[in-house]
Amino acid sequence: MKIRILGAGPAGLYFAALMKRLDPSHDIAIFERNPRDATWGFGVVFSDRALDFLRADDEALYRYLTPHLENWPDITIVHNDTAMPIAGNGFASIGRLELLTLLYGYVEQLGVKLSFGAEITTLRQMGEADLVVGANGAFSWIRSENEDRFGTTTDWRRNRFIWYGSTKAFDSLTLTFRETDLGVFCAHHYRYRPDRSTFLVEVEDATWQRAGFATMSPDDTIRHCERVFARDLDGHRIISNHSHWRNFPAIWNERWSFGNVVLLGDALRTAHFSIGSGTRLAMEDAVALFKAFREVGTKDVPAALALFQQQRLPPMKKIWDAANASLRWYEDMDRLVRTLSPVEFAYSYMTRTGRVDHAEVRRRDPALAASYEALRPEVRG
Ligand SMILES: Cc1cc2nc3c(=O)[nH]c(=O)nc-3n(C[C@H](O)[C@H](O)[C@H](O)COP(=O)(O)OP(=O)(O)OC[C@H]3O[C@@H](n4cnc5c(N)ncnc54)[C@H](O)[C@@H]3O)c2cc1C
Repeated sequence: MKIRILGAGPAGLYFAALMKRLDPSHDIAIFERNPRDATWGFGVVFSDRALDFLRADDEALYRYLTPHLENWPDITIVHNDTAMPIAGNGFASIGRLELLTLLYGYVEQLGVKLSFGAEITTLRQMGEADLVVGANGAFSWIRSENEDRFGTTTDWRRNRFIWYGSTKAFDSLTLTFRETDLGVFCAHHYRYRPDRSTFLVEVEDATWQRAGFATMSPDDTIRHCERVFARDLDGHRIISNHSHWRNFPAIWNERWSFGNVVLLGDALRTAHFSIGSGTRLAMEDAVALFKAFREVGTKDVPAALALFQQQRLPPMKKIWDAANASLRWYEDMDRLVRTLSPVEFAYSYMTRTGRVDHAEVRRRDPALAASYEALRPEVRG
């Protein structure tokens, strides 16, 4: 089977690996516009459960990746000056470039052809193929030029965020919320290698407007954020990697393929970074598409693509809904920080997606559940 994949992100790379392992005679090529050693962003995070999927589906890759991951058992919610460690939420993280470099090596030793610096703007440029995979990220032109066929909806959300890094190595995945005269600033920060952390700053749009970030220089923006989070950074710097303020597009597609063209990963749907699942979902998409081909065979591509959507949509939709509930919680963060006590705030964070109820909070962190019950006895049920 001749497979052409646009985009060497986690989705495209992992699908290529799975198909090549299924049948080494598959002719698989991936086109990536970036050079091999360049990427945007800093580290990505996987929840413990996100790694379980990998262990179940691909023990070899799990073992290949895990020595490179930073792990920690808890998350910490900082409500102004009160830090609330919350147990039972294990996470692992890795630099995005390191993850991609490991995956490049993994697919290349399987015999997949990788072309870097290959900006592709038309399907024809990839040549004839039995299957074309649009794994070219949230701003996929394969999707945007075929929105009617895919039934695409893009919901640009209100909050603004900027993906920075820091030289400080934080001890746990931490969400720090600091009230300022301009509004609440939130930092999502976690170590992804011994001397580096991701440091993503998110604010409500009104805060962003009041701060004047639209016209502030990149250096002044960093200095402003360093002042807001001075107590958290301990004298360490915020660092930029082409960092700029963005709004999050919540993307969904009713139909995932047409003819022999299919979308995968962020091109197919985006999940807000606050649930730490974008990379995991992209890789799970790859597993689902691979399983559809394994089941149907490679002769009837439209049938395999139909099975892919049928089997993948229900579990993906659940996580997508949770991600959207999470992003709405962040859109209300000014009110939540100002009106809730640290315990109520941490509890609200834990239950924000609707997938964690009081019994589950009690299972994960009995101390938090008990503190919350002391304030709200009615939750004991
Ligand atoms: C701010 C932010 C923070 C995030 N944090 C996390 C996190 O903590 N944990 C997590 O799991 N996920 C996180 N994500 C999401 C995660 O990065 C994505 O969900 C994941 O990378 C999706 O993988 P993908 O393979 O679908 O797409 P991508 O990783 O976006 O890869 C697509 C590739 O296609 C290439 N490409 C695009 N157009 C072309 C073209 N025309 N020609 C050739 N190549 C092209 C791009 O260069 C890119 O390499 C975050 C995302 C953002 C924006």
